Amino acid sequence: MDFKSYFIAILISVFILNSCSVDAIDTSLDVKSDLPSVQKERYVPSKYKTKNVIILVIDGPRYSETWGSPTRDLIPVLDRQLAPLGIVNSAFYNLGSTYTNPGHTAITTGNYQNIKNNGSELPNFPSFFQHWSHTYAQHQESTYVIASKDKLEILADTKASEWNGKYAPATDCGIAGLGTGYRDDAITYQNTFDILSEKHPRLVLINLRAPDSFAHANDWDNYIRGISNSDKFLGDLWRFLQNDPFYAENTTLFMTNDHGRHGNGNKNGFISHGDGCSECRHLNFFAIGPDFKRNEIITTERSQIDIPATVAELLQFDMPYGKGEVMFELFAPPSETIPRTIAHSIAE
Ligand SMILES: [Zn+2]
Ligand SMILES: [Zn+2]
Repeated sequence: MDFKSYFIAILISVFILNSCSVDAIDTSLDVKSDLPSVQKERYVPSKYKTKNVIILVIDGPRYSETWGSPTRDLIPVLDRQLAPLGIVNSAFYNLGSTYTNPGHTAITTGNYQNIKNNGSELPNFPSFFQHWSHTYAQHQESTYVIASKDKLEILADTKASEWNGKYAPATDCGIAGLGTGYRDDAITYQNTFDILSEKHPRLVLINLRAPDSFAHANDWDNYIRGISNSDKFLGDLWRFLQNDPFYAENTTLFMTNDHGRHGNGNKNGFISHGDGCSECRHLNFFAIGPDFKRNEIITTERSQIDIPATVAELLQFDMPYGKGEVMFELFAPPSETIPRTIAHSIAE
């Protein structure tokens, strides 16, 4: 090898070495044993702008007090501020067991399972958290369950043997985890903003319990106050996401419910839920994000198990056990996605 060839070979080697070492590596967070302790950012934005998904589940309000109300006075933020920026589906249902853990399990696994409602049983199938982490292999706190109800900690794992104990999301449920009792939504509000600000998880499910808990206590005033407070939180959450550089313009937010409640005249009315009546099945559905249509109200019949299928499409991973369908009717053609100025208008 003459000097010129040798020199060129050195140059090429330096170039290759440099190009292999530029990926930022985050080693600052605790890592579960099934996830690599050091990993590169494997998330490659593909056909969609969405890189993060947050799902807010408001526990057990009745459709007739929320989107189904003629005046929508209890949900002014959704009705007047957010709906024009996103898409509402007024034909969205729980088609499984209309209790809390079954409803949430349908949303995270894509399967209707008659799972026990007291936190003593794990889902049969792996969740979107597990599939996401399996695909993208980031640290555990990249996915999160934040819930006022401790019993929802079961969403972090599955009975399926090849997935059990693996790729679990971080959890912040109830007073101090499974078996410690429910906490006030005010704590969940604060914890949500703390976790999002500090840890920047990419796939998050949040549960707020007030409408359900006060309804079970036959406390109508606090039931409707719980609906209003949850609506205000939805607005605060979207505003936060648009003001945080990590989440702005690449985050999709879904809002739905785990179940409704009995209609008036059916059993004890709003106090309970859990059967197949139309009011227990009919849910709110709202979605907002850079890949979705805006200012549309659709009536495409959909149900909870279609949420994980749609999340998997947005974030480009597979959910081979999920039974739902991608809700392609939510997606805007590329030229019609939310322009920066409109995405920010709620934040200003
Ligand atoms: Zn519930
Ligand atoms: Zn019912």
